[in-house]
This record gives sequence, structure tokens and C-alpha cells, in this order.
Amino acid sequence: MDPGVMKPSTRVVGDTRRDGRRVLVIGSGFGGLAAAVRLAARGWKVTVLERREGPGGRAHAFRQDGFTFDAGPTVITCPNLLEELWTLAGQRLSDHVTLRPVTPLYRMRFPDGSTFDYHAERDAMLRSVRSFAPKDVAGYEALSARVERMYEAGIGPLMTAPVPNVLSLAAYTPALLREEAFRSMYGLVSKHVKDERLRQALSFHPLLIGGSPFLPASAVYTSIHYVERRWGSHFPVGGTGALVRGLVALLESLGGEVRYNSEVSEITLEGRTATGVRLGSGESLAAEAVVSNADAAWTYRYLLPNHVRDHWSDERVQQARYSMSVFLWYFGTRRQYPKVAHHTLLFGRDFRGMFEGLSGEGAAAEDPLLYLHRPTATDAALAPEGHDAFYVLAPVPHLAAGSNWKARADVFRAELARRLSRTVLPGLQAELVTSRVFTPEDFRDELRSFRGAAFSFAPTLLQSTFLRAQAKSEDVERLYLVGAGTHPGAGLPAVLCSAKILDEVMAEL
Ligand SMILES: Cc1cc2nc3c(=O)[nH]c(=O)nc-3n(C[C@H](O)[C@H](O)[C@H](O)COP(=O)(O)OP(=O)(O)OC[C@H]3O[C@@H](n4cnc5c(N)ncnc54)[C@H](O)[C@@H]3O)c2cc1C
Repeated sequence: MDPGVMKPSTRVVGDTRRDGRRVLVIGSGFGGLAAAVRLAARGWKVTVLERREGPGGRAHAFRQDGFTFDAGPTVITCPNLLEELWTLAGQRLSDHVTLRPVTPLYRMRFPDGSTFDYHAERDAMLRSVRSFAPKDVAGYEALSARVERMYEAGIGPLMTAPVPNVLSLAAYTPALLREEAFRSMYGLVSKHVKDERLRQALSFHPLLIGGSPFLPASAVYTSIHYVERRWGSHFPVGGTGALVRGLVALLESLGGEVRYNSEVSEITLEGRTATGVRLGSGESLAAEAVVSNADAAWTYRYLLPNHVRDHWSDERVQQARYSMSVFLWYFGTRRQYPKVAHHTLLFGRDFRGMFEGLSGEGAAAEDPLLYLHRPTATDAALAPEGHDAFYVLAPVPHLAAGSNWKARADVFRAELARRLSRTVLPGLQAELVTSRVFTPEDFRDELRSFRGAAFSFAPTLLQSTFLRAQAKSEDVERLYLVGAGTHPGAGLPAVLCSAKILDEVMAEL
């Protein structure tokens, strides 16, 4: 079922029961901003406290040498969930942000030089499968039908439901069992299609949220195929940063505010009840409730004393499994590469080995799957005329003792440049006019992400649903959490759903 259909958006601006009551939101990631908008629409006085100088968290944007770069998310598959936020305020998303469809969704390039255009749209995807792996057309169609059933009866409703305990899963389990959601994603895809390249094309998706298609129950992520098909893939004019700015403006139109350069150093307590926050500057702010969009592990480990954390003890935080990190290289070229699609995936030689290396504190693969973003394919204004803006994302393990990406950055960046030159961006080195990297240490130091994980807790079976951090803190009254570390997990659709769950759970106040 469509989350938007399940609970239709209604305009709730100015729910007077809560007028004037203050809530503080720590962090301005997509989850924090979506939660802030929802709470402001219900009449809360909302202040978002962001440690950085601008909004967005992983989705922040920056300008450099005339280029505009989105730091993180670029594949927008949840226009329905975004639209809901504007509807709550009696406004329309399209009056503020223009979303352009992106097609193909991905151009995939395999080590043998073959390419596959992966589409969100059904007929275009069928045409691609037919010309790439003709024997797999029927299998692909059967897989598509299965993932639709899996989403409608299980994953869709589960994504917007609070799941505080195992019992709350009971309603979804039969559908998930029937559709074999507890298998690995690669296993389920392989049951339906035989071409190894197509198997990889249809099962790489957990990489987008820090997971692996080889783990038990990762088959739930096949439902991403259905989400892509149902709502399409989009890119905002002006970049994802335009969407973030749109959310901030939406919040302000509802009377909320975002304070930048405001790092929260402590959630203040009276006994085991949150009473507000203390900033790094020493300033204290009081509130009736606190919502943390900061990394869930970081929130518990560093913003609350150990003695109030019966559930999220230091030990639990330490022993949790964290997702991989990513190494990001943003660059601009003095020429354009018009044949390069908006989203390119360059597969490596050892698909399974790469995921194994990324789990825990493993070693980075020699030729990992790379994601190359060329936003100027959709919006030329993101670079000076005649130029192209890019970023390339390489998945790497999260930080471990002795990690030193700052020291390795130049060498790693040069390796990426060579691989891109050999494949899709010939002569790249000579064309570069601007460059910047973002390393796992930056995830830790800039975004306060535990172990520099790019996607918070790893999305494993034992860290999902009621075993992931909950919207209502397990340890502290009047403290709520939203974002990638909470159920249902990382990725924009999921963090927007986590804000929806938070909204429902906070109705108790
Ligand atoms: C490189 C990359 C590419 C991605 N691509 C996609 C994509 O294409 N599509 C997709 O759907 N998803 C994508 N994702 C995933 C998606 O971006 C994230 O899951 C999502 O943006 C996380 O949002 P969040 O609400 O958890 O907050 P975050 O973005 O993690 O923001 C948390 C905020 O809290 C702030 N903060 C932390 N501690 C404090 C403190 N003590 N005081 C004040 N502020 C604090 C941080 O500065 C930050 O701004 C990508 C992720 C990455 C890293």
C-alpha cells in the first residue's frame, strides 16, 4: 500500500492544542526538516539546531569555482512523500521546487564493456531487458510482479508504522514470508533471472543504503524496484540542495526556524525526562520535547549520560554493526561529456567480494562498484557554460583503528580518476578545473556520524524494525528520534517515513 494512500495528507496547520509549545530538533537532515515541518504544521513552535553552517546534513550542497555540488542524495524516488509535507502546510511542492524525471535511471557499465540502461518506467525497462538478456524477460516480469505484491502487502505499510516490538510485525509477516522477503536479495533475483550482469543490475540497491544484497532478508530491498516504477526517479532543478532549501522555506512559512552553527553538546534532563538542550557555546534552551535527527548512535553515546541509558548503553552502541562509509570526490571539468548519463554505475569484477569487504572493518575492494553523478545532464546551470559537474562515490569500510583517509585521499582520488579516464571520462585529468573530497573522517567530524558510517547502523535483519532505534526513545521520556538510524532506515524515502512515524508517535504529547 502507498504510504500516501494509507494515511491521506490532511491540512493540519494551526492545531491549536499545541500552539506555543516548544520543540527542539537537533539536526537539519531530510529527516529533521521533515519532522520539523510536520510538527510546525501541528502548531508546535519548532527550532531546528544545526551544527553546520547550512542545512541538509548528508544532503548539503556547496558551491565551488562556479559549480554547484550536491554532497549526497541525488536519486529522488519519493515525490509523494515530499508532496505530503507541502500539502500539510496547504501548499504545493511544484510551486516551490521543480522535479525533473531522469531517464534512464541508471546507465550501468560492466567490466566486459557492455552497458545496460536501467529504467524506472516499465515498458522502457522491458525493452532494455529484452535487448540485453532476452532469455530473462519472463523471469524479470515475474520478479516485478512479486516485488509489487511484497511492497503493497508488507514493505509499504511497514515503512510508515511504528514497530516498537515483535508483535507489531505480525500483520506484515505472512506477506513477507509468501514473497520470500527473508531471503537474500541476490538469491531472490537469481531465482528469477540468469544473466549474471542482470542479477547484479537488479540487486545492487542495498548499496544505496549501506547494506548488502547477500545478507538474509535483504530481499526486502527488491521493493525499491517497485518504488522506482511507481513514483519514478527525479532530480530537482537547482539540485537536491534546492529541495533542502525548499523544506527550510516551508518550515519558516509555518513559523519554524533553523539556527545554524549551533552544535548541541548535551540533552538536558530532569531525572529521565528531556527538558531541552545545551549548546557547545554554553547556551541552554528549554523545550517540552526534544527530537534528535543527529546520528542515533551519536545521540545516545555523546549527548546523554550513560546512567540513563538502560537500553542504549555504551556497550550496545559499541557492539552495534555500522554501515560502510563512502569516499566522495566532487569535480568539475572544462569540457562536457554529453554521452555520460545523469547516473552511471560502473560495476567491478567481484560483486560479492566487494560487499564482503565492506562489512565491518574489512578492506576496500580494488575496483569497487562506482556511482558517477553528472547533474549537468539534467540541469546545465549547475556548472559554468560548456563545463560539467560530477561526483563519484566509492563505497569503503567505515572507520576502524588506524584508518587514515586524509593521508590516503590523494592516492585514492588519483586511482578513481584513472578508472574514470579508462571507462567513461577519457582524458579526465587534463580537463579538471575544480576538485574536493569528502572522506569517512568527514562523516565523523562534519556530520557526527559514529565510526564515519555513511548510512548509520547497518541495515541487517537484527538491526531492523523493532531492533533499530525507535522514534520514541527507549531510555528517555520526551525524547524522540528521526532519521537514518531509526526505523525504517536510511535513504530519503525511509527517513521521510521516519518523520511520518515520529509525527504519529508524538501525538501522545
Ligand atoms: C553520498 C550519499 C549519497 C546518497 N544518495 C542517496 C540517493 O541518491 N537517494 C536516497 O534516497 N538516499 C541517498 N542517500 C541516503 C540519504 O542521503 C540519507 O539516508 C539521508 O539524507 C539521511 O538523513 P537524516 O535525516 O538521517 O539526516 P542527516 O543527513 O544525517 O543529517 C543529520 C544532521 O544532524 C546534524 N548534527 C549532528 N549532530 C549534531 C549536533 N550535536 N548538534 C547539531 N546538529 C547536529 C548534522 O550536521 C546533520 O546536518 C545517500 C547518502 C550518502 C551519504
